[in-house]
Amino acid sequence: MIVRVLGSAAGGGVPQWNCACANCSAARAGRRPTRSQSSIAVSTDGARWLLLNCSPDVAAQIEAFAPLHPRQPRDTPIAGMLFTDANVDHLGGLTVLRQHGTHGFVLRSSAAVRAIAVAQPAFAPFARPPHRWLEAPLDALCAPVDAEELVGRQLTVRAIPVAGTTPGYDGRRHVRGAVVALEIRALRESARLLFAPVFADIDDALRAAIEAADVAFLDGSFYSDDELVAQGLASKSARSLGHQPVGGPNGTLARLRGIRTRIVFTHLNNSNPMLDPDSEAHARVRELGAEIAFDAMELVL
Ligand SMILES: [Zn+2]
Ligand SMILES: [Zn+2]
Repeated sequence: MIVRVLGSAAGGGVPQWNCACANCSAARAGRRPTRSQSSIAVSTDGARWLLLNCSPDVAAQIEAFAPLHPRQPRDTPIAGMLFTDANVDHLGGLTVLRQHGTHGFVLRSSAAVRAIAVAQPAFAPFARPPHRWLEAPLDALCAPVDAEELVGRQLTVRAIPVAGTTPGYDGRRHVRGAVVALEIRALRESARLLFAPVFADIDDALRAAIEAADVAFLDGSFYSDDELVAQGLASKSARSLGHQPVGGPNGTLARLRGIRTRIVFTHLNNSNPMLDPDSEAHARVRELGAEIAFDAMELVL
């Protein structure tokens, strides 16, 4: 299984257009790499690709990665998409892919996410032909696209409900399946990838999925619960926005101490001190053997 990080930032990216915080300023000045909004692409053969979330930066992300380029007029190697939740930074890229012509995408999400998304006029066309927006049943295996696409590829997906709510535009409701982690298995290589860019807590099911994965991309939005407030950027805590912080006594690093899975933090908010390689937060992450995703990072499982 080939995994390509298309984008590694939370909503807004780094730099964010209206932000001159230390991280955004460093990226804008070219002292650190810029980051587009979080999404990864997965393939077993390098020819057909699945996107895990589809960020508003998808057009630039496609251009930055040759295997996603069209090979003839009006063509795309992107077969389908899987969504973890209905946040605009995770499916807003659909509005960029309106010029699909006759190419139909197969999209999969929880029933809850599909219902929220297709109620929005901008996303509704993706539930109609030539597309199919299928339900990813919670906690059951399903095919990422369809059986025909899967011949010789043998990828399966499991959507694991995690702690979280529907997006702000839907009222932050507590609904089962509002946020899921996606477990992708390539049966032939027995490789297992977990993509969990958003979670408010690590419950037993998420912990078990992290332990079972070869590589787990985890929510790296915030290092501390109060960093937005402390930096004067916003009045909300990480947890109130549905993100468990990476650091602190109840943070992800503390909770996963001793785990053997390769952990890669992604979906980094521009407020996150982990983005500064000289910070203590960055050192803590590396100390525990975890990594920080970057745009264009590539792994082979
Ligand atoms: Zn996001
Ligand atoms: Zn900033």
